[in-house]
Amino acid sequence: MHLEYFHYQLNLKSPFRLSAGVRDHTDIVIIKLSYEHHVGYGEASLPPYFDENIRTVISFFKKIDVRRLRVDLPINEILQYVDGIDKGNNAAKAAIDIALHDLKGKIEKKSIYELYGLNRPIDISTSLTIGISSLDELEKKIIDAEGVELIKLKLGGNNDKALIQDYLSICHKPFCVDVNQGWNDKEEALELVNWLHEKGAIFVEQPLKKEKWKEMEWLFKRSPLPLIADESVKRLEDVDKVIGRFHGVNIKLMKSTGIYEANRMISRARKLDLKVLIGCMAESSCAVAAAWQLSSLVDWRDLDAPLLTLNDPFNGINYKNGKIDVVGSVGLGVTIEEGI
Ligand code: MG
Repeated sequence: MHLEYFHYQLNLKSPFRLSAGVRDHTDIVIIKLSYEHHVGYGEASLPPYFDENIRTVISFFKKIDVRRLRVDLPINEILQYVDGIDKGNNAAKAAIDIALHDLKGKIEKKSIYELYGLNRPIDISTSLTIGISSLDELEKKIIDAEGVELIKLKLGGNNDKALIQDYLSICHKPFCVDVNQGWNDKEEALELVNWLHEKGAIFVEQPLKKEKWKEMEWLFKRSPLPLIADESVKRLEDVDKVIGRFHGVNIKLMKSTGIYEANRMISRARKLDLKVLIGCMAESSCAVAAAWQLSSLVDWRDLDAPLLTLNDPFNGINYKNGKIDVVGSVGLGVTIEEGI
């Protein structure tokens, strides 16, 4: 196999405001794994709050002995080797995982969901995420949300109630909220969760700092709404920690180290009777198409990144009336733009 990679700057349609700050682009590293005339693509997305960046991803790729990436080996064996190279580096590992799956699908002329024995995901609705916005910005974004069944509102600032009031004054679609660890203590969180319940929210994602497991235990016992773990849960070993603290998990390939482990996390979460959401970072259609392959297995999908992007280097995802579909049926099902 032959491994190549390059940096790409993914520009966002409008500045994205979270409790952690505001940004207008996200760096990604795209990798190409080639075998004979087949090429598999993968992607590491690197939002600024991550502990990985372009430099760490590239230095991880340089440590890979390409001779160990053999097409005759099962993907999980190759991934075990890649995982053992160094700890952390989850987004870099996800890029390898995605490219290996794409390549295997292309060699076997199968889609990735078929490699996992799954049916083609059909009629898959996705929520649309709206960053912390002024009323004017919110009005524009709601117009773009035609057909969307669930809106995800980012909270965690100082005026969360005002943001929700603004939203409810112009939109009646069901909504959930993502606090991105932005609330400070459990009492404040409970007061806001109760208020959000009255206002009709569907669930609350990551209300407190990721390490506040004890406080989550307290909140879990009292919350009238499902609480979903995002930053608190990265990999398979984290899923069991959620019991008695959250009602569900948001699984993302950039945290899980890719498709293979995400699939195992979904199975584990199901066994534990947890709700499952599959989500994404600011990513191109490459990594989002990878997450889509597993989307028939989960309760909610938050796979809207390509909708928020100006210069997606991949083609092949269609959004229509709040539904996401991947056009191709081999490998990831997406193709890279010519000249990239
Ligand atoms: Mg989140």
